[in-house]
Amino acid sequence: MKIYISILIFLLSINNTFSDEIKEEQIKVAYVYNFLKNISWKNDENIKSYKLMIVSQNQTLNNMFKMLASRKQLNDKNIEVIIYNNTKVDNIQAIFIDKSSEVEYEKLYYEYEKNNTLLISDNYANKKQVMINLLQNDSKITFEINKANILNRDLTVSPDIILLGGTEIDVAQLYKSSQVQLKEQKETITSLNKNIEDKNKELKEQLKAIDQQKTIISDQIKNIKVQNEQLTLQKKELSQIYTSIEEQKEKLFIAQNEAIKKEKDIKNLINLQLEQEKTFEDAKNNLDLLMKKIDEQNSSILVKEEIITNQKNIIFVFFILLIIILALGLNVLRQNRLLKNLSETDTLSGLYNRRYTLKRLEEEVSRFKRYKTPFSIILLDIDFFKKINDTYGHDKGDFVIKQISEIFKQHTRKTDICARWGGEEFLILASNSDIQSATKLAEILRKVVENSDFGINQKVTISLGVATLSENSDQDVVLKLADELLYKAKSSGRNKVIAA
Ligand code: GH3
Ligand code: MG
Ligand code: MG
Repeated sequence: MKIYISILIFLLSINNTFSDEIKEEQIKVAYVYNFLKNISWKNDENIKSYKLMIVSQNQTLNNMFKMLASRKQLNDKNIEVIIYNNTKVDNIQAIFIDKSSEVEYEKLYYEYEKNNTLLISDNYANKKQVMINLLQNDSKITFEINKANILNRDLTVSPDIILLGGTEIDVAQLYKSSQVQLKEQKETITSLNKNIEDKNKELKEQLKAIDQQKTIISDQIKNIKVQNEQLTLQKKELSQIYTSIEEQKEKLFIAQNEAIKKEKDIKNLINLQLEQEKTFEDAKNNLDLLMKKIDEQNSSILVKEEIITNQKNIIFVFFILLIIILALGLNVLRQNRLLKNLSETDTLSGLYNRRYTLKRLEEEVSRFKRYKTPFSIILLDIDFFKKINDTYGHDKGDFVIKQISEIFKQHTRKTDICARWGGEEFLILASNSDIQSATKLAEILRKVVENSDFGINQKVTISLGVATLSENSDQDVVLKLADELLYKAKSSGRNKVIAA
């Protein structure tokens, strides 16, 4: 043991210069042992053995420390060497952190911050954290010591430690340089803060712009909504217009068909009449001829009996011809009447048509103006007729029109004019009737229609408007009034009579 100590003293005295025989690890172990000798722990007297933890990958170094522990004592107590294995051990008096595991220094520095433990490092760069740090330059090992850090861990350090050949780290200088760094960092932070403020400002402006755009967009959305609503309205209007055009087309189609049918009937009648007129003409010519012959025969006195017989025959033929002529004449009259009837009536319903009724209405107006004879009109329309057509078909619809027309004929006077005014719209011209009696008639018609069976699975009803002609008005005024009243009857629930 004495030899070992003398080697150490020798090593220190030769200024730590390496030689082939003396290894670097031996010098470090000697240093560490001497450091420990110059340190006092808080409760030195209670320490049973000094625990020294070695943090190193260097096996030789570890072994040398173990050897030191086995051979040397500190204050007459044993030294216990613990090889670090990544776990914290309590009541450690000193730790040696070799450069082979330099990374651990900082970790351990903070891990043992609250402990009464001395940290010895090997070439650790951060002077602020150093307690005792071995420095290796070329072939020489010295050390530096930061007493402030040692004192901070409640350790007492002997001033003699410097005599081992170390230098003290100038804490004041360290403080100064860190103050400068701090100042620089503060400046950097101030400029960063300014940047952040600028950025914040920019962000605020951008947020403001975004808010404005949001407002613009929400306005635009509102506009679009309004436009959408307008569009929907226009679409609705258009579809109504389209429906009414379709109805008009249908009405027109029906009217056209009727007109074509009538034209055909009239043509047939005209042809028949022409043929009959021709036959009548022929017969007349024959009669003339016969008359001539009779005249000739009459002029002859000497008429043979045979001739007389002939004359008798001729007279017979003459009578026959006369009868034919009379029959033809009658037929022509009947055809004329039929023609007249056709031009005045509606084929489907057999009621008077609009043209004829308008003429009669004009006559009634002038009669009223001249003799103050009152008259009223009833304008009526079948309720929900489209539904009847759609449900039971157009033919059934025609049947309903016919049946209703029959009802009108049966329940009106001969002097009243019942007309088909349009598709399923009718007009009754009640001559010599004031508003009260016309309203009564309208109510009767409404009830009869409502209670009639049309062979379909639903009731058929009508809505009616009753108007009478007043002083200083004409047919247009009374028609318009009746139309408005009919519209009122429709809009107030249908199956109603409204009079004015
Ligand atoms: P509202 O109660 O409002 O009168 O309803 P509605 O269904 O009766 O409506 P609107 O009077 O507008 O419809 C009349 C329909 O009658 C339209 C057309 O298809 C039909 N129509 C018109 N003339 C004839 C016709 O000669 N025969 C048949 N079968 N249908 C007709
Ligand atoms: Mg109708
Ligand atoms: Mg109608």
